[in-house]
Formats: sequence, C-alpha cells, structure tokens
Amino acid sequence: MSSDYSPALTMLVPDAYVFPGSWGATRRWLILHKTAGFQTAQEVAAYFQAGSDGNDVSVHYVVGLDGTVVQCVREADGAGGNGVLEAGHDAWWSGNPNLVTFSIEHVDPDINNASPVTPAQQAASFALIRSICTRWAIPMRTADSNGGITGHYSIDPQSRAHCPGNYPWDALWAFLKGAAPMPVPQGWKDNGTTLTAPNKHFLVKGFRDHVLTASAWDASDMPLEEEQSVAEVERHASSGAGTRQLTVGRLLIYTASKGVMESAAGQEIKVCYDEIAAQAKQIATLTAELKAAQTPIAPTAINVTSAIAACQSIATSLVIIEKDATTLKTALGI
Ligand SMILES: [Zn+2]
Repeated sequence: MSSDYSPALTMLVPDAYVFPGSWGATRRWLILHKTAGFQTAQEVAAYFQAGSDGNDVSVHYVVGLDGTVVQCVREADGAGGNGVLEAGHDAWWSGNPNLVTFSIEHVDPDINNASPVTPAQQAASFALIRSICTRWAIPMRTADSNGGITGHYSIDPQSRAHCPGNYPWDALWAFLKGAAPMPVPQGWKDNGTTLTAPNKHFLVKGFRDHVLTASAWDASDMPLEEEQSVAEVERHASSGAGTRQLTVGRLLIYTASKGVMESAAGQEIKVCYDEIAAQAKQIATLTAELKAAQTPIAPTAINVTSAIAACQSIATSLVIIEKDATTLKTALGI
C-alpha cells in the first residue's frame, strides 16, 4: 500500500487505533514530537503497530535519524499520539486535540530528547512538514488559535514539556519562509495581516491563510464582501455560529469547532434557489388574492320597464304642468 507522502514507507497501525476521518474535524495544527528512545523509525512504527504502550497511540509519520520517513496513520484519519489536554495547555485547545492535528515523531535515542537532529533527519522533517502544510492548508508558522505548527508541550506541558526537546525550530521557520513564499494572487496586496483584492475587499486571519496556503487561487476569485459574523454560517447544513465571507466562486466559513472551510457552494445555492422559488410562489398567490379583492363590484341590474314607466309618468306630469302654466299666463294676461 502506498503512502500519502511519496518518500515515506508505510507501516500502518490497526484501524482500531485511529480516529476514522478525524471524525469530520478540520485539521489546523501540526504537532512535532521526539521519541525519547529508539534507534530507527521502523522500530517506532513497529511499537505503534503492536500497541505496545497500552493506549493504542500512534502518529501520522515517524522521521528516523537517517532521514527515513515511515507513515503509521493515513492522513485522512486522526492519530492518537497527542494525548489529552493537560493543565497549562495553550489556550486555544479544547476537546480532543488528536482530531484537529497531524503529528510527526522524530527518533531521538536520548531519554531527554537531547540528541541533535541529524542533517538527514532535519531535511526529511522539513520537507514532510512543508508537504503536509501545503496539502492541508495548515499555516506555516508558530501555532496560534487559527492553526500552525507547535510541539507536544503545547498540549501536555506537564508530562511532555521535553517533547520535542531540542527540535531546531528557528531553522524550520527559516526553511518554511525561504522555501515556500506565500503566493499572493496576482494584483492582490498582502501586508502580513490583511490580504486585499483589487476590488478593495479584503481577507484576514484564517480566511487570509486559506487563500495564501491554497495550492492555487485564481486572482479573479475576489471577495465580494467583508467577513461577517452570523448565527448560522450555512443554510444547507446546521454548522452553527461563526463567520462567513463570499468570494466570486466560493463561500468561506469559519466555526470554532471546525475552523476555516469552504462550504459546499452548490448545495448552498440549491437551498437559496429553492427558497426563492417558494417565495415566488407565495408572491404569486398573494398577488392573485389582491387582484381578486380589487375587482369592482358589478352594478345592480336596472329594471328597464319600470324606469321607462317612471320617465313616462314624469313626461305626463310635465305636460300637465306646462298646460297649467299656459292657463295661468292667459289668466294673468302675460
Ligand atoms: Zn510527544
């Protein structure tokens, strides 16, 4: 079976040890470890495969001193090696940290994780980190509440304060900065915190990271509005409260539990179309009712015979009056 990362060997742990599909959570962080024991990546992988620690823990990849990379857990699944939260953990963690992270072990025979990382191990580690971050849109920087890279100590500051020990963080940041410049879409501007499109709309924080870490982002796919807080980020699914921002081609959504995601735009539009159709139908019904209410009331039918009789009676009366008037004029001599 091939690995998810082509240079890696594959020694997968039993399915029962992993969180399938990471239970639907979005992975936003990458956690680095050192093994505090062992000589080779294969030894560590065999240890995980056998469930030797008694807790069925594992990590996604193990990087050996000789630069060998072994995959133990599919990237699509969550690995259990990041443990449970301990008091003093970084503020943004909540729930099960294994569901929102990838994890990489680095072989270090020293119990205190004090052996220097070898050049081959460092090169293999850095390349693997860049690959995972690029393919899973994980920010290539020190972790914060929006994602990034950090050590096991961030989650378990008491029992794992020395994990990953002397890992060369500064060299990692320099490598990631130099090797993977953030591709700002053509014509856009980025000042380090705000990514502004030519139409003046802008993206910040996780949405900015999402565009800058995308494997490709069409420069014409500009935001159509600013990020806004909403009680429900989607109409076709109950994703809860968060923020939302439309671009020409996508709906970016953020919730505290799932992080930044692209909504299933087709499903979202389908719900909107259905709502518009239902409203158009309602408007048509109301218009018809209104029209019916405005139709003038038909006049009561006139009884022509009695009307003619009435007219004749008036005419007869007029003849009499005229006759009387003539008689009166004659009598008065006018
Ligand atoms: Zn660790």
